[in-house]
Amino acid sequence: MSKRYQNHIGGKWIDAVSGETFENRNPANWNEIIGTFPSSGAEEVNAAVESAREAFDAWRLTPAPERGDILRRVGDIMTARKKEIASNMTREMGKVLDETMGDVQEGIDTAYYAATEGRRMFGHTVPSELHNKFNMSVRRPIGVAGIITPWNFPMAIPTWKIFPALVCGNTVVFKPASDTPLTATTFVEILIEAGIPPKAINLVHGRGSAVGTPLVNHENVDLISFTGSTVVGKSISKSASDTLKRVSLELGGKNAQIVLDDADLELALEGVLWGAFGTTGQRCTATSRLILHAKVYDRFMEMLTSRAASLRLGDGLQSDTDVGPMVNQDQIDTVQRYIGIGKDEGAKLALGGSPYREGACADGWFHEPTIFTEVTPEMRIAKEEIFGPVLSVLTINSFEEAIQVLNNTKYGLSSSIYTNDVNCAFKAMRDIEAGITYINGPTIGAEAHMPFGGVKETGNGHREGGWEVYEFYTETKSVFVDYSGKLQRAQIDNY
Ligand code: NAP
Ligand code: MG
Repeated sequence: MSKRYQNHIGGKWIDAVSGETFENRNPANWNEIIGTFPSSGAEEVNAAVESAREAFDAWRLTPAPERGDILRRVGDIMTARKKEIASNMTREMGKVLDETMGDVQEGIDTAYYAATEGRRMFGHTVPSELHNKFNMSVRRPIGVAGIITPWNFPMAIPTWKIFPALVCGNTVVFKPASDTPLTATTFVEILIEAGIPPKAINLVHGRGSAVGTPLVNHENVDLISFTGSTVVGKSISKSASDTLKRVSLELGGKNAQIVLDDADLELALEGVLWGAFGTTGQRCTATSRLILHAKVYDRFMEMLTSRAASLRLGDGLQSDTDVGPMVNQDQIDTVQRYIGIGKDEGAKLALGGSPYREGACADGWFHEPTIFTEVTPEMRIAKEEIFGPVLSVLTINSFEEAIQVLNNTKYGLSSSIYTNDVNCAFKAMRDIEAGITYINGPTIGAEAHMPFGGVKETGNGHREGGWEVYEFYTETKSVFVDYSGKLQRAQIDNY
């Protein structure tokens, strides 16, 4: 019998009211059931919001450095349990152990950063335009934070949202992706063990439409932080406008790596392999397009196809695996649909193109690393997110053309350019329309203390990570203290 996991609501671990559950399976071996989780809905969301609301006053009045101390303990526990958490994450969503270890490490780094933020949370003091008057701004928590996360970074993304939410004094209702409920459950257990008041952190499992929608619509939820697809993000933005909630959206990408003719080709090769096929291409920052200078095209493509063809598919827990499975059958279907679209558009399939079911991969959602060449900028496979191990290669003849092609998408998350020309590097930093630009590095990879997010339809202007995210989880209050003992009218008595 597989283990039965629960929601965490009102300070208790409980089943869904209906008693119904859903299964979580290992994508590398779909016969392995990791556990069953409660199929929840609006009733559980209501109870979770009530709990978070009840916990808010005591938590907002807890000194921020004390809130930060608890997050430091969270980081310590995650450090001690890193390998175990990572192994379970590989079992539930498939990416290789090195990457799930990195995912947990990103959470640990975010915990320690958030812990110290409890000792900053700066406001401003500024001079008043009037005599004997004092002006300052202070930061206040907002209230109940609704957190909705995807499955591809099951620990890092929830920590990016929940740590800043908590250290700023908000309480939380967390709806994780249905494909990674185990990592979310472990995370909430750790928060409670470290000392977060149990009613302040609520976990509600269940489908996006059943749990996410009532959370977004709830009038007592003050903000939503969402990472996921652009289509769901847009619907959240619309629904949330009814209650005028604050909404942070981190959405899709169609990231490109430019390789100019003066680039270090070996370095660019390592970059594109890791960028396109790491996490089986299921990263918001994955390299989905290679924009390659015609002068180095033949040489580079030979290097690339031969290396990509030698990548080993398999269970992410095996140390010799380069590429794990996709997360589920839906993802395989989406990738297959786009491979059909690419062929119909006239692109040339240079490598892969099919699901992979050989040997030890027989019972898993594996897909071959796939490369399309002869892709033109107007093709759908050059513009739309695929979210799988599929690389579209476009050819250019100049730096200017490369930038034009790169910007020709509605997304703007990450980007990369390989060149040794310092002038091109600086122009790229200025002209690429993206939230992230790497010079001589691949499109993927974040650091906990740097802002993370994108432009255009990748988001709505907020950033996660670093110092900026703390703005999202607080409101500014302007405070004026008049110690003149008389009525002073700004703009009137002084001018
Ligand atoms: P998704 O389908 O949009 O799901 C994301 C989360 O939203 C899941 O928890 C999902 O629940 C929930 N959800 C689904 N429908 C909802 C609704 N109507 N209302 C409220 N919540 C709803 O995205 P995904 O396929 O899991 O993740 C892949 C996408 O995320 C890609 O587009 C990728 O680029 C993007 N992503 C972006 C970033 C970034 O930082 N920009 C990072 C990672 C991923 P269920 O799991 O129950 O369906
Ligand atoms: Mg699973």
